[in-house]
Amino acid sequence: MPTQAKLIQVIGIQTEIAKLGLDLGGVMQYVVEQTLPLIDADGAAIELAEDGEMVYRATAGICNGQLGLRLSMGGSLSGACVATGEMLSCADADIDPRVDREACMKVGLRAMIVMPLKHDGVTVGVLKAMSVSPDKFGAADMSLLGMLSEVVAAAMYFSAKYDSDSLFIKATRDAMTGLANRALFMDRLRNVVARVDRERRRSGVLMIDMDGLKQINDAHGHRIGDAVIVAFSDRLKKATRNTDTAARLGGDEFGIILSPLENPDGLDAAIRRIHAEIAQPFVFENQPYPLKASIGCASVPEDGIEPEHLLEVADLRMYAIKQSGRK
Ligand code: GH3
Ligand code: MG
Repeated sequence: MPTQAKLIQVIGIQTEIAKLGLDLGGVMQYVVEQTLPLIDADGAAIELAEDGEMVYRATAGICNGQLGLRLSMGGSLSGACVATGEMLSCADADIDPRVDREACMKVGLRAMIVMPLKHDGVTVGVLKAMSVSPDKFGAADMSLLGMLSEVVAAAMYFSAKYDSDSLFIKATRDAMTGLANRALFMDRLRNVVARVDRERRRSGVLMIDMDGLKQINDAHGHRIGDAVIVAFSDRLKKATRNTDTAARLGGDEFGIILSPLENPDGLDAAIRRIHAEIAQPFVFENQPYPLKASIGCASVPEDGIEPEHLLEVADLRMYAIKQSGRK
């Protein structure tokens, strides 16, 4: 059993990691650094299995300077640990046939423990502790290293989870409407334009600005204005296909990327679809609110293939339509 003092040290490490939050790189680096004093190791590393190789993703002590180093999975203790998902230890690298002798000699390594890092039940890498002295590590050290590997695995879990939903969603979605935000819209537009250039595929962009939203705010309050924006967004979603991107670019301004466009009439058809979708007023708390908007368009590649330029063209046309609607 590890001593009480060592267990308290582990609790301290966990607390520090909780403060690091979701930064997986930061967590991995902190864990390898803390491994040295915790079990009196001379070196520690986190190696991740990537495309059949073990890659050093965090290093401390004698293996410092090996960050990014790639080693074949076969013929190393780390590779065997990933393959079996079991903790492995080596008392003396000089006489152990399972280890990569050359790699060990390079850093003067004699003893090591290799802990599997499991993510979703799969061993995705190892936490390795090293010593320049043979027969260095005992059962208590293995138990402590096991606790640290659990901490890294938890950090991986949260990092993967939040990368794929919450953080990613926050970075790419408009919170109020759930539509794409400007960043995602621009990213998609750059992609679409690049493909148009490569594959000669026709696409289109719409710029949409709601008409008279200020008036709704002034007459009924911001709460109603917000509800009208959300209702308008829902109608836009209905009017667009899965392959299109509808975004709230800010305030009452929206953009839609139509890609691919099968025929030149596709843009006009999309505009007609949106007008038809917003034709019915939005009924909220028994009160009808008209949904109106001006829509301008740009064709790719006919109007250009530069994202900013395309938005400007569509915006000018939208503005002209808004002006003519006022007359
Ligand atoms: P126009 O017909 O010329 O487009 O005028 P408009 O009243 O729609 O106003 P404009 O497009 O010039 O400006 C956008 C207005 O939308 C300003 C602001 O009152 C309102 N607005 C912008 N963002 C929000 C929001 O998040 N919630 C609410 N309730 N109103 C917003
Ligand atoms: Mg407006």
